[in-house]
Amino acid sequence: MTSGSKAVQDDRPAHTPCDHSVDVAIIGAGIQGASIAWWLMRLDPGLRVALIERDTSFAQASSQRSASSIRQQFSNPINIQLSQFGLQFLREAPGLLAVDDEAPAIGLTDPGYLYLARSEGADSLRAQHALQRHHGAPIELLERDALAQRFAWLRTGDLSVGTLGAGAEGWFDGPALHQAMLRAARSQGATLIRGEVVGFEMAGAGDAPRKITALRLADGTRLVCGTAVNAAGAWARPLAAAAGIDLPVHARRRTVFVFSCPTTLADCPLVIDPSGFWFRPEGRQFIGGRTPDDDADDLPLEPNLAEFDEAFWTGLAHRVPAFEALRIENAWAGYYEMNLFDHNALLGAHPAVDNLLFATGFSGHGMQQAPAVGRGIAELIVQGGYRSLDLSVLSIERLVQGRRILEANVIG
Ligand SMILES: Cc1cc2nc3c(=O)[nH]c(=O)nc-3n(C[C@H](O)[C@H](O)[C@H](O)COP(=O)(O)OP(=O)(O)OC[C@H]3O[C@@H](n4cnc5c(N)ncnc54)[C@H](O)[C@@H]3O)c2cc1C
Repeated sequence: MTSGSKAVQDDRPAHTPCDHSVDVAIIGAGIQGASIAWWLMRLDPGLRVALIERDTSFAQASSQRSASSIRQQFSNPINIQLSQFGLQFLREAPGLLAVDDEAPAIGLTDPGYLYLARSEGADSLRAQHALQRHHGAPIELLERDALAQRFAWLRTGDLSVGTLGAGAEGWFDGPALHQAMLRAARSQGATLIRGEVVGFEMAGAGDAPRKITALRLADGTRLVCGTAVNAAGAWARPLAAAAGIDLPVHARRRTVFVFSCPTTLADCPLVIDPSGFWFRPEGRQFIGGRTPDDDADDLPLEPNLAEFDEAFWTGLAHRVPAFEALRIENAWAGYYEMNLFDHNALLGAHPAVDNLLFATGFSGHGMQQAPAVGRGIAELIVQGGYRSLDLSVLSIERLVQGRRILEANVIG
C-alpha cells in the first residue's frame, strides 16, 4: 500500500491441503503468522511448521492495508519495549530476511511521531515523556516556541507542548516486510498451506484444560498438530469460538485517506493532533485518518469517504494552514483487530485449551510489534517460556483474571 515498494514477491505456489501432521500449525499468514514461523524456523530448524492461510493474495489482510508506522511513544513500558525491538529488527531486516542473497527493501524512514497537546493535555504528555525517557526512548519534549521554530508550517497558537521521536520512530513498507518475512520463513522450511480452518478436534473433558489434536479445514481435510496458533487477525474471534473461547477481538474498519498538497512540509513527522486525527507524508503525498463516528463490527472493507468530513478537513487546515489547498487523491480501508477488553495484544496460551496459543488483539499497533511478538511466541513453543523480552504481562490469561493493561496512546 505504501508507495515506492520493492516488495520481494514469493512466487512459489502454496500447498493445497491434504491430511498430514505438523509440530506447529499457525492459522493466518499475515505479518504475525509469518513472523512466528520465521522465528520458529530460526530457533529450531528441524520443526515441522505449517502456515494455513485461506487467501494467499492477502487481499483483506490488515498487514497489506496498514499505515505501517512505528513509534516508541506509548504509555505502557511493554509497548515501548516491543517497538524498540521492532525498530532494531527493521533496521537489520534487509540482512536478516535476505533469501538467495536478495535483500528485501523495507523502506524504513525515521522522521518521528509528533504528539501535540493543548494546555489540558500537557501534564499527561509530560508524564508520558518522562516514562518514555526512563525506558530509553529518545523522545524530545518541545515547548510551543520550540515547536514553532522547528516546524514553520505548523500552527502552534493553541498548543502547549509536543513530543517528538525523530530518529527513533517513523514508517516503513509494511506489505514488503510481510512478504519478505513470509518468503524467508518458507525458505527456511515453513510450509504455506492454502485453506480455511473451520474447526478443531479436541481431547479432554470436564474442567481440565482441553487439547487440540487436529485442525479441520473447509475442504474436509484435517491437519494433526502438536501446537496451534491463532494468528487470524481481525478474524481471530470466530476461530477462537470454534475452540470454545470467547475472544473480545472485533474487526473494526479504519479508512486511510491519501491527499496531496502543493506546499512541501519540511521534515514532517507523523503528527498526532490533540483533536484526534493523524497524518504523515507518504512519498510526495500525505496519508491520514481519524477514529470513525460509526465504529460497528465487520463493516464492508471499503473506504468510508464520508469520514473526510468538514470537521476533519477543518482540523487539518487549522493545524497546517498549507492544507487549505489539500486534494483527496485516494483512500483505502482495513480492519483493526480491536481488543475491546483493553486495546493491547493478547498473547500465549489460553487457560481453557493447553496447546492453542494466541497472537492477536493488536488494536492498531500490530505491524511494529510483529518482530518481537513472533520471537516471543516462538520462544514459548520451542523453549517453554519467554527468553528475551518477557511478554507475560500481555498474556491472554488476563481475560479470565480480569486484569487490564493500560495504554493511553491507542491511535483511533
Ligand atoms: C488502516 C490500518 C492502519 C494501521 N496502521 C498501523 C501502524 O501504523 N502501525 C502498526 O504497527 N500497525 C498498524 N495497523 C495494524 C496492523 O496492520 C495489524 O495489527 C497487523 O497487520 C495484524 O497482522 P495479523 O497478521 O495479525 O493480521 P492479518 O494481516 O489480517 O492476517 C491474518 C490472516 O489470517 C487469515 N485468516 C483468518 N481466518 C482464517 C482461517 N479461519 N483460516 C485460514 N486463514 C485465516 C486472513 O486471511 C489473513 O490473511 C494498522 C491497521 C490498519 C487496518
